This record gives sequence, C-alpha cells and structure tokens, in this order.
Amino acid sequence: MKLILLGAPGAGKGTQATKIADRYGIVHISTGDIFRANIKAGTKIGLLAKSYTERGELVPDEVTVDIVKDRLTWDDCKNGYLLDGFPRNLFQAKELDTFAEIDGVVNINIDHKLLMDRLCGRRVCRECGESYHVSTLNGRTTCERCGGELYQRKDDNPETVDARLAVYNEQTAPLIDYYTEKGIILNFTGSEAPADVLFEEIKTVLDRLK
Ligand code: AMP
Repeated sequence: MKLILLGAPGAGKGTQATKIADRYGIVHISTGDIFRANIKAGTKIGLLAKSYTERGELVPDEVTVDIVKDRLTWDDCKNGYLLDGFPRNLFQAKELDTFAEIDGVVNINIDHKLLMDRLCGRRVCRECGESYHVSTLNGRTTCERCGGELYQRKDDNPETVDARLAVYNEQTAPLIDYYTEKGIILNFTGSEAPADVLFEEIKTVLDRLK
C-alpha cells in the first residue's frame, strides 16, 4: 500500500502514521523527521533546512523532492510506504506523480482552534518520535514507548505555528481538491477524542483498500 497522510500541522498525523505503518507493515517516511535528523547531524541539507524550518516556511521544492525520490528507492519501500508531510504543495504533488503511484490519501480534517493548543503543548520523543500533549504527562519527561527523552520542537511556538498554519492553508490545503479529483482521497475528522478512536475509523477504510 502506498499512502499519503494529509492534514494541518497538529492534526495528529505523526500519531496516526505510527499506527498505520505498524498495522500494514509499511514504512513511515516523514520529511519533517528527515529534516530534523539532518539539522541535528549538521549535514549540508540540515544547514540549508534549518532557517526554513525555524521560520515555519517550506524548504525549497527541489531539495525536498530529491530527498523523497531517493528515499522511495530504498529496499524497505518495497512493501509500501506512508508519506507524512509530503507533498506540501501542488508542485511537489505533480513531481511525486512522475515517480510514484499512490493508492490512497488519508486526509485528517480538524478544527483550527484545536491546532494551536495541540502544537504549543506538544512534546516529542527524541528517540522514537512518539508525541504527547503536555497536559497528559503529569510531569513525566520520558517516552512511555521507549523511555527516550521528551522535548519541545523549536517550531512548536505560537509565532512559528501561525506561520505554519498559513503555509498549510495557502499551499497544502489545495491538495485536497487535487486528490479528490483523482478519486483517491479518504476523508476523516480529527477531534479531542483519543487517537485510537480516529485510528479505528482509518483502519476500517484502509482494510478495504489492502
Ligand atoms: P513537519 O514535521 O511535517 O511539521 O515539518 C517541519 C518543517 O519541515 C516544515 O515546517 C518545513 O519547514 C519542513 N518540511 C517538512 N516537509 C516538507 C515538505 N514536503 N516541503 C518543504 N518543507 C518541508
């Protein structure tokens, strides 16, 4: 199964991505994670990406498309993959069409008022990428899944979140129409309910796609 996960920052894509990848035995490819790993390691790509991610802007398309194009040639993609955070605009979507055939686009719609609270309260595991909301941690600073240290992403602050949501509305939201016209969009609504509730709905639909 070759899938795209679409939704505004804070819609719960990362959490659902882990669950989907586990259930269907496909690899989770997050361009945001790839950029963060490169920034941490101080690579050439990391140095370039840093200023964009810190402002909540998109890293240039040529760089991002090349990374994904290469990543999809790895052996672990043979059973399928889930793209999380890519494509982010129409140019990237059209480029993706030239080197991949996507089976379904899981689109998570969510009330924008919820997003700011979710993103600014988000804490992420440095090791496995699992995310939590600070209000549920009761002061815990390590990951329940793997024991890794939890941290707050540098771009999860009100100013950068505003910029990221604006970029989403202007550049990424048009992809919903693009994939609706292709007949491969699968629409879901995120809420304050536990992530498992949404995952049950996604599972029901994806099981039929298998
Ligand atoms: P995310 O973890 O998906 O919220 O991504 C974090 C940041 O990485 C974004 O705000 C962008 O700066 C950059 N980024 C991630 N995916 C892409 C993409 N497909 N195109 C351009 N920039 C991206």
